[in-house]
Amino acid sequence: MKMPIEKHPCFNDASRHTFGRLHLPVAPKCNIQCNYCNRKFDCMNENRPGVTSKLLSPNQALHYLHKAIELSPNISVVGIAGPGDPFANPDETMETLRLVRANYPEMLLCVATNGLNLLPYIEELAELQVSHVTITINAVDPEIGAEIYAWVRHRKKMYRDTNAAAILLENQLEALRKLKEKGVTAKVNCIIIPGVNDQHVVEVAKTAAGLGADIFNCLPYYSTAETVFENIPEPHPEMVRAIQQETGKYLPQMQHCARCRADAVGIIGQENDDAIMQELKRAAG
Ligand code: SF4
Ligand code: SF4
Repeated sequence: MKMPIEKHPCFNDASRHTFGRLHLPVAPKCNIQCNYCNRKFDCMNENRPGVTSKLLSPNQALHYLHKAIELSPNISVVGIAGPGDPFANPDETMETLRLVRANYPEMLLCVATNGLNLLPYIEELAELQVSHVTITINAVDPEIGAEIYAWVRHRKKMYRDTNAAAILLENQLEALRKLKEKGVTAKVNCIIIPGVNDQHVVEVAKTAAGLGADIFNCLPYYSTAETVFENIPEPHPEMVRAIQQETGKYLPQMQHCARCRADAVGIIGQENDDAIMQELKRAAG
């Protein structure tokens, strides 16, 4: 069945005021440590930090989805974006996607990941008709990546410094290639960190475009307490605009990203609906 891609509010500007998305917070753990992330809060892949989420099991998530759709029938996309990384919790993530697909054959499915452990799941993601995948790629040079990532844990081994960044990058690029081979719409997020990768974001966009990415999202780094980067200032809007303009030469830009929380629900840019949040609390028990 062909999914109604034009109903994805994050990828289609025309539908973002009409259709909503719902994130299911089923993925607590992460397999890397970004120097801007404090996971007492939420994942910055897609989220606004400083807001903790309830965690749900796959069955609780399905129950919550039923309730949320009763309250907000315009939900057209179900996404998994943390609060850790979906594929650091692959059993929970894949089970949730299977349950949602079995119960809602027409629902658009979406995941946002750091890409480290995405590759082994792409085959099944495509079978489940997950139509949109976001990978956050902050550097395509391991020397720069080594400044951004404190460590990477892959197949039960810990990596640090350029080794960590190189393993992450290799897996991200391979996953992006395979997503496109399978016809999945691929968005690349890149977080602009002044003095660290701001001069390098264009290289990320070029590389992503070369592998067939569909859309690029430059996200201003968000300063978070108790992180290695806590003293780095957030990028000036002028810097963000200039980088968007430059990277726009290589890939279409997403410019209305609202840094959604792992439990975001509803129309992008609007506060979470209180009644649905009550359902989330009830579902989490
Ligand atoms: Fe935090 Fe997300 Fe980075 Fe993991 S991938 S460390 S959850 S920002
Ligand atoms: Fe997918 Fe990101 Fe939109 Fe959530 S905010 S539905 S993960 S593109």
